[in-house]
Amino acid sequence: MNKFVRSFLIALAILFTVSFVFSLFANFSGSNSNPQALSIGELAADVNAGKIKTIVVNGNDLKVTMMNGSSAISQKEAETGIVETLRSFGVSSTSLAAVNVSVENQSGFGYWMSLLLPTLLPTLAMLVIFWLIFRQAKSGANQAFSFGKVNIRLFSSDKDKVTFQDVAGLKEAKEELTEVVDFLKHPQKFLEIGARIPRGVLLVGPPGTGKTLLARAVAGESNVPFFHISASEFVEMFVGVGASRVRDLFQTAKKAAPSIIFIDEIDAVGRERGAGLGGGHDEREQTLNQILVEMDGFDRDSNVIVMAATNRPDILDSALLRPGRFDRRVILDIPDINDREEILKIHLTGKKLDKNIDARTVAVRTPGFSGADLANLVNEAAILAARKNEKVVMQQDILDSIEKVMLGPERRSRAISQKEKEVTAYHEAGHALVAAMLKDADPVHKVSIISRGLAGGYTLKLPLEERHLRTKSQFLADLAVAFGGYVAETTVFGDVSTGSSSDIRSATEMAKDMVTNYGMSDLGPRTFGKTEEMVFLGREISTEKDYSEEVGNKIDEAVNAFIKKTLDAAKNIVVKNRNALDKIAHVLIEKETLEREEFYAIIESFHLKPVAVKI
Ligand code: ADP
Ligand code: MG
Ligand code: ZN
Repeated sequence: MNKFVRSFLIALAILFTVSFVFSLFANFSGSNSNPQALSIGELAADVNAGKIKTIVVNGNDLKVTMMNGSSAISQKEAETGIVETLRSFGVSSTSLAAVNVSVENQSGFGYWMSLLLPTLLPTLAMLVIFWLIFRQAKSGANQAFSFGKVNIRLFSSDKDKVTFQDVAGLKEAKEELTEVVDFLKHPQKFLEIGARIPRGVLLVGPPGTGKTLLARAVAGESNVPFFHISASEFVEMFVGVGASRVRDLFQTAKKAAPSIIFIDEIDAVGRERGAGLGGGHDEREQTLNQILVEMDGFDRDSNVIVMAATNRPDILDSALLRPGRFDRRVILDIPDINDREEILKIHLTGKKLDKNIDARTVAVRTPGFSGADLANLVNEAAILAARKNEKVVMQQDILDSIEKVMLGPERRSRAISQKEKEVTAYHEAGHALVAAMLKDADPVHKVSIISRGLAGGYTLKLPLEERHLRTKSQFLADLAVAFGGYVAETTVFGDVSTGSSSDIRSATEMAKDMVTNYGMSDLGPRTFGKTEEMVFLGREISTEKDYSEEVGNKIDEAVNAFIKKTLDAAKNIVVKNRNALDKIAHVLIEKETLEREEFYAIIESFHLKPVAVKI
């Protein structure tokens, strides 16, 4: 489409140029506008009267210049010369001698051009336009014919080479992959002992944990050609090209052996076959089959290793995971605190930093951040520093960016009324107070009524230490904290705002999970409902009921019981400590944001002990 517009514009430009040249030409030939036309008789009379200075003969055309400077045109007969003609009109020799008669060369370049140009130029313009159109059509056709070819990216340049040094943490993953690199470098060592060569390595991990980065690092370490393709590129645009693209990719890689093929986001084609009803899924299956066939077709000693990445190992076809295919699985986890520190350090290098920058503190404050989030955080901090016209990135810039990465940018400009500000302040004060009073809740890091992203305000709670498991009492505390905002609003204003909607939704989900997935209710340790993902006109989660109507009612009861219990606990805290709630809310209205220290100073000033309530 773009190309079309471009050639259209070019054609238009050519047309304009042509018409411009024409108009120039026309102006040029008739320079003195509308010269007087004389008959031969008039001309003869003027010559006799001595009014004529020169006559220029061009074929039968006469260009006449008068003594007074004005010019005229005239015509003579074709057969006779001008002098003869004038004589026959009775011009005397003396008068004729006073006139400068000259003959212009008719066969000159200018003459021919004046004849040819009017026909030649448009023809030329047409030819150029046709050429442009054909050229475009040709490239379009080429594109159509190259659909079967795979659009492989080859990383082997030194410019953006990535090595294991650029990947922080992920120790086990790196060890596993070092073996792969070793194999590519010294295949003989493994083959002599009779070991089978690893064929496929599957990198599994949540988004942003560095799967793509790690694959590129393997390429950088082993110094072999690295063919990188995203699985969705197999199936784009036309049906029927996926399989041939796979063939093409594997052929190219085999020719370049030793080499690495990296198929990113393989779940796009590697989904369980036969599952889902979505259109175009035949294409996906053919592509997947072709990948399986190609991987089986490797010789025992062919030095091609296939790597793939996914964040959905659960939906991959089991045939992909069989030995001989992606038999090695490398798990990439969300980084823990030490890894986060390392990742931060990697991304901080190359930036101008204040000397007080402490990556550890930032790592403490960013549980749950992936590598990509941390990279983004450092970049946001640098942008913030630049916006504030600082010479270097300060620690505070990084800390301020954490919330932006977590919750979206601040929206200070959003106008809110005094009443709304009060409601928001009490809502957040409610969350914070309940969190502070429960032993099993995470400590409050920050309370704010500045709206961020979609939230009107926020209360930031952070665990004291890394957590991989969560207990029932923690869940209950979290539920109570979630209800803190709602309870504060109802207690203080006797009314409910829409500001609690997302709290209520997440609390309900949490309570449901506790009952149906974690076995934390009186119904005992079993799961209820089989969840599976369907591929039908997009993604859809469907939950199959695997329990009776009667049990369904009991589940509802259990969920409601959790909600009631924690709601009561929250209410209890808010009502009993109304003074503290008022104080927090008022400080929030005044300052808008409370840091951890300021917040706990208020709690302590009321002599409240954050161990009090146990649910
Ligand atoms: P994905 O797992 O989704 O493929 P990427 O490999 O694309 O994630 O990671 C995105 C970015 O996050 C990387 O380009 C890198 O800047 C950063 N990153 C992620 N993990 C790490 C890590 N362990 N060490 C350093 N940077 C990382
Ligand atoms: Mg990726
Ligand atoms: Zn809330």
